[in-house]
Amino acid sequence: MSKRIKKGIIASPGIRIGKALVFHGDEVKIPKYHIDENRLDDELERFDEAVTKTKNEILEIQEKIVSDNFSDLAEIFSTHLMALEDPIFVERARKKIKSEKRNAEWIVNDISIDLINTLSKIEDEYLKERIIDISDINKRLIGNLQKKKKMNLSDVNENSIIFASDLTPSETALLNRQFVLAFVTDRGGKTSHTAIMARSMDIPAIVGMDDITSYVKTGDYVIVDAVHGEILINPSEDEIEEYQRYQKDINDAENELAKLTNLPAQTIDNTEIFIYGNIEIPEEMETIRSHGAHGIGLFRSEFLFLDKTLPNEESQLCQYKKVIDFFKPYPVTIRTLDFGGDKLHEYMKSHREMNPFLGCRSIRFSLKNTDVFKTQLRAILRASAYGQVKIMYPMISTVEELLQAKEITYEMMRELDLSGTPYDKNIEIGIMIEVPSAVIAGDILAEHVDFFSVGTNDLVQYVLAVDRVNEKVADLYNPLDISVLRHLRTISDIASAHSRPISICGEIAGEPKFTMMLLGLGFRQLSMSSKYMYQVKRIIRSVTIEECESLSRALLQMKRTADIERAVVENMQQKFPDIII
Ligand code: PEP
Ligand code: MG
Repeated sequence: MSKRIKKGIIASPGIRIGKALVFHGDEVKIPKYHIDENRLDDELERFDEAVTKTKNEILEIQEKIVSDNFSDLAEIFSTHLMALEDPIFVERARKKIKSEKRNAEWIVNDISIDLINTLSKIEDEYLKERIIDISDINKRLIGNLQKKKKMNLSDVNENSIIFASDLTPSETALLNRQFVLAFVTDRGGKTSHTAIMARSMDIPAIVGMDDITSYVKTGDYVIVDAVHGEILINPSEDEIEEYQRYQKDINDAENELAKLTNLPAQTIDNTEIFIYGNIEIPEEMETIRSHGAHGIGLFRSEFLFLDKTLPNEESQLCQYKKVIDFFKPYPVTIRTLDFGGDKLHEYMKSHREMNPFLGCRSIRFSLKNTDVFKTQLRAILRASAYGQVKIMYPMISTVEELLQAKEITYEMMRELDLSGTPYDKNIEIGIMIEVPSAVIAGDILAEHVDFFSVGTNDLVQYVLAVDRVNEKVADLYNPLDISVLRHLRTISDIASAHSRPISICGEIAGEPKFTMMLLGLGFRQLSMSSKYMYQVKRIIRSVTIEECESLSRALLQMKRTADIERAVVENMQQKFPDIII
């Protein structure tokens, strides 16, 4: 008998059938057992070795950080080292192992919990922050005691459907596409970067399934129905056959749509719409181009940085150049680093913020770590000598931030001028509109930029104050809320009044149900993953701007989100009944 599990959030559509692999990531399991008197010395030696190994690891990370110009962050690791030399930690652990004859993991974990409980009662912000350090050391030390090799998703070497409590964007980027058929997570929202990666990599995925990992075991046979958001565990022969037929129908429909690749994205009344691609890693560019995109509207450059070392100027230049050469003569818009939120650099993981989406994220990070920012700007500028490149700053929320970022960019241009290094002196500089303040002050920002690109994934999050990665509030995250539509209308009007080109690069640009509304709101450039590029083009080629405007006018008159949603769905069902939305 198969067991049908409740619905989750479809992150990337598709059907896949295969064996489950449950991935536990960084979760730490603590073995608990007693040690015989005659094995105590061995246990102490095991503990000492793990402490030394942990210290060496931390020293290595510290050296890397300093050589990558992240000296500020090196401080955090000094604190970790001090803790590992502190008798409160180390000597206490040794004594307890001897006297209580319990294994080292158990003792280390107990001491950590004790320290954390004590620290959390003290009214001192600095000491409270040490809680994170203690828990980090605890994890590392226990990991080294168990000498367990962490399972790496890039090592998956047989067809598998991954089940995990959560996957970080960097873990997702490392998925071995050849063998990972689909993935399913307990946590996450539709516009989390993990979900975005799944669409870009064309791996079907369902997120926010609450506790699916407690239902599935490694080796279970499963069907991932990421069209309806359901999982079937150990399905019957009949169910497998039914889904195989369904899978084939979907493939046939996609092959039919592929005939649109070389046809223009033009409305019936001859308005040209520009379709660009969003990419995270250069490997995605083939699919984007083969779907007929006219360049890259959003290169999420931070994905080059999400592993352990920060690439230097030369290796960044090499990555950017690869993409630019590939898309020539079309433009490539490189967004400067957008670290933070759910995209943590390896070094940020040990210094988590209380509200990462409101913290030192994105352009704020770059402006505080100018060495990293400058290296990236030099690489982008140098890359601009090889094709049409645009620079885009993410999450600008004040005009001061924009001016500061531009000043640093000009400083890099002067450096390149002095050394006679070629770059495009007329390179366009634009910003992402992702924060309500940037919409409200859009007219002021427009004076200083060449273009705007609206990042609705964040804009919706900040307009509605709803965390985009939190499945518990996923029902409140709604791009069709009237307040979001008003923001879109306002920024589109500002761009047109100031003759600034404007695109949309948030996920709604690539979702068919929003296409008519966006055209009606005045958007003519859409940047998206390849997933629905054909469907969006098909809609563009079947409508007039006039009918799109009439739809968006009607939506803006409505006062309830439910009414707006109903109108959008009914319009789609009437005009494009075969598109699943
Ligand atoms: C957005 O916020 O809409 C966007 C495109 O940027 P990201 O999803 O990378 O935050
Ligand atoms: Mg964003």
